[in-house]
This record gives sequence, C-alpha cells and structure tokens, in this order.
Amino acid sequence: MSSRRPFIVGNWKMHKTVAETVGYVAEFASHLPSSSSGCDMAIAPPFTALSSAVAAAHGTTLQVFAQNVAAEGPSGAFTGEVSAAMLKEVGCQGVIVGHSERRRYYGETDAVVAMKTRRALDAQLLPIVCLGETLAERESGAALEVIARQLRAITDTLTDADVHRIVIAYEPVWAIGTGQAATPDIAQQMHRHIRAIWEATFGASADTLRILYGGSVTADNIAEFTALSDVDGALVGGASLSPSGFANLVRGA
Ligand code: PGA
Repeated sequence: MSSRRPFIVGNWKMHKTVAETVGYVAEFASHLPSSSSGCDMAIAPPFTALSSAVAAAHGTTLQVFAQNVAAEGPSGAFTGEVSAAMLKEVGCQGVIVGHSERRRYYGETDAVVAMKTRRALDAQLLPIVCLGETLAERESGAALEVIARQLRAITDTLTDADVHRIVIAYEPVWAIGTGQAATPDIAQQMHRHIRAIWEATFGASADTLRILYGGSVTADNIAEFTALSDVDGALVGGASLSPSGFANLVRGA
C-alpha cells in the first residue's frame, strides 16, 4: 500500500432495521475505538437507517454512505427515488454507485452510473464507483476491456476538480458473495490497469486515486489485499454485517 489512506467500507445491502443499525454502531465503536484505526471506515446501511446511523456514529470517525442515489435531482416526479441532495441533508458523506447488483437487477447502464456519479459529486458526496466483469467476460478474455469501458464512462464526465473526490471499487461479479475472492494477482493486475487508465486521462492525480477491492473479503484475507501496491482498501458485503467481525477486518487492513 502507498501513502494513500486505506478505506474500508461495509456494504450492508438489504440488511438491518433502524434498531439493528443503532445497536451495530454502538457495538462496533466499543470494539474499535476510532482513534486506534489508521484507516478511513464507513458503513452503507439501507436508506431507512441512514439518519439513525449518522446520529449513532456522531463523535466517532465511522462515516455513513448510501448504497444508491437517483440519477435525477435534486427533486422531482421520480417515484421511489432518493436524490443526492437528500442523502447529503441526512448527513451521508458519500454513496456507492454502480454496484453490480444495481447493474444486473435494476438495469443500470454505464450511462446511468455516470449520471449518478455526477449527481453525487454535485451534492458534495464522495462517490464509490463500482466496476466489475462477469465470469463469462473473464473467461472470454474480455475482463480488461470491460473494466476500461466501465471506467471511461465515468472519466469522460469528470472535470479536473472532480478527480480527487472520487473512489473506485473493483468488484469482479464472480467474487461477490461467492466465498471465492479474486487472487492477489488478479486484483493487483486490474487495479494497476485502472490506475494506468486514470493516469493516461488525468496525469499525476492517479497517485492519489483510491481503488478498493471488493468480493468475498474477510478478516482472514484482507491483509493479502491491502498489501498489494495498487489496492487501497476494500468494499465488504457479508463480512461487514457483524460489528465484531467488521472491527476485526478493519484492524487487519
Ligand atoms: P461480499 O460483497 O463481500 O459479500 O462478497 C461485496 C459487495 O457486494 O460489495
């Protein structure tokens, strides 16, 4: 790992009520006094628990991110959507954008992911933009090209002012929730590829771009990833759901 500050983010997906969220944050804080951690840390609860999570995390360094944001905004006739301005108002520091479950189950295209990223940036939220190839794409030899396409959809829309206010997550679809994490070689190769594209587009800012790995990260394997020169932390699903387990994982980063 370089001088980039590691960032560990727990993506809770559709888990935890308000009461469970408040209990989690209290327990997490007791396992991990925030002053003891050398990493940035965030949890991403469901929309309904964001406000309570922000209140519960007050006074700690635990940040609260949303899992999704509307492509439109700041308000309007978009039933069921939540805008970036609304997330900002409840105290979120950022938002996960373009997770493969959003792309796959809710039809989010590269263009939609780029619009959502723009909304987040305009609302002063930190977007974590997820990229990842499917197993079929990897097996057909297209992984590097798929990631380049997904990344360019984002870089094409960024201004120079945006490039320090964004985080990328590489999450191969075949590694998410499968217990089969990418090998360190695969992760390092793809993170280097992402950083090289960023460098070709934005020059030296590539040195400060944080690129997280996601897909079956656990307390047992986190150190293998954070030891890699181009991996700057992790986006963690299943292993973020237990406060003691997630605190262990953060400690191992
Ligand atoms: P997982 O999920 O850690 O459960 O594999 C990662 C993610 O979807 O962000």
